[in-house]
Amino acid sequence: MLSPPRQAGGEELAIFVFIDAFGWQIFQRHQEDFLQGILQTARPLDTVLGYSCACDPTILTGHLPQEHGHFSFFQYAPQRSPFRGLRPLGWLPRWLTSRGRVRRIISRQVARQLGYTGYFQLYNMPFQRLPLMDYSEKRDLYQPGGILSGAATIFDQLRSRRVPFHVSDWRHDEPRNFQSLREAIRDEQISWAYLYLAELDGILHRDGTRAKTVTDHIRGYDRQLRDLLKLAGEHYRVVRMYLFSDHGMADVTGCYDLMADLQRWERATGMRFGKDYAAVFDSTMARFWLLSDRAEPAIRELLAGCPAGRTLSDAELDAYGCLFPQREYGDLFFLLDAGMLLCPSDMGSTPLKGMHGYCPSHEDSTAMVAATVPCLPPTRLDGLYSLMLREAARGRDDLTAATAGTAATAGAAGSLA
Ligand SMILES: [Zn+2]
Repeated sequence: MLSPPRQAGGEELAIFVFIDAFGWQIFQRHQEDFLQGILQTARPLDTVLGYSCACDPTILTGHLPQEHGHFSFFQYAPQRSPFRGLRPLGWLPRWLTSRGRVRRIISRQVARQLGYTGYFQLYNMPFQRLPLMDYSEKRDLYQPGGILSGAATIFDQLRSRRVPFHVSDWRHDEPRNFQSLREAIRDEQISWAYLYLAELDGILHRDGTRAKTVTDHIRGYDRQLRDLLKLAGEHYRVVRMYLFSDHGMADVTGCYDLMADLQRWERATGMRFGKDYAAVFDSTMARFWLLSDRAEPAIRELLAGCPAGRTLSDAELDAYGCLFPQREYGDLFFLLDAGMLLCPSDMGSTPLKGMHGYCPSHEDSTAMVAATVPCLPPTRLDGLYSLMLREAARGRDDLTAATAGTAATAGAAGSLA
């Protein structure tokens, strides 16, 4: 049975601040620029293998990618591709379809046509291959039913327990998200809030981790978060703010053209895409589907000769929480060394100065968690869920029980080896 909404105004407020790509290394270099004298707790937070589309569902559900089903945007799945109707786009000339603006316009139209509510981008995926692919984030992760496995997110928990909360709209820019949270605080109707800040990620990709623009943006966060805490202090008796990221960022030191290797390899071996193998090229990872018996040894041999990265074993994938039961995201994962970028890839064709999505145990991959109160924060991304649920459960027996169950199963204090 649903309990009546809790009376919130003026009592306690917990604010969770998500800052995309604000890794532990970057945080440490900017300690003087970011909430100095206010943070009582700060520590590194182990991330999971993959990009934000793997990390964010992990934060929101407390599950690892192989459990919640989200890892990367594209999967080779010709039988269930929703893009089969887009075959005619494959006849458009490459000079037109490779333009970012053209692809963004087409992405918007495709999303509207297919009724997608999630983050949808065709990126650099060739239109000829699109009818062979499925896309993972069709639904809005923040809305009910957004998770592929059907797992409940922290927001589902808050809704079902009728905890009054505020969550940013990920489609809006940072000034607008700050503004809507300030309005919610002034209204005094919430006891729990999630502020979504994603612009630092774009700056780090564009300018690298040492750029002045990065420092400027972090100082901007500092100013706005101090103002937010001051405002919240005027409207609530107790305010606790928790801050965390999903992953870090490494400076790009070199590009590698694995697609060109594959083309040469196809000519030499007679292997064909869609017949012997299939592949999706993420920014730091190539994932292969092995379709014929002769493909596996040949691809393993090709990758063994590639100096930019290494093939991950099943044991490693399992340790990273990415050994998918149906191999939905590929049979074989080739991961680049930190700092290397696949260029071109299905994600883009222009080199960037910063990238993430490397080995989770690399120091530049590590995320961070901090708080304005002394606390024992989680050590890995999936533990944030329990932290958020605990805050929602303050003074509520029904949620306290749910939190205890989650902490026991989701490895709140677990750590990636
Ligand atoms: Zn990013």
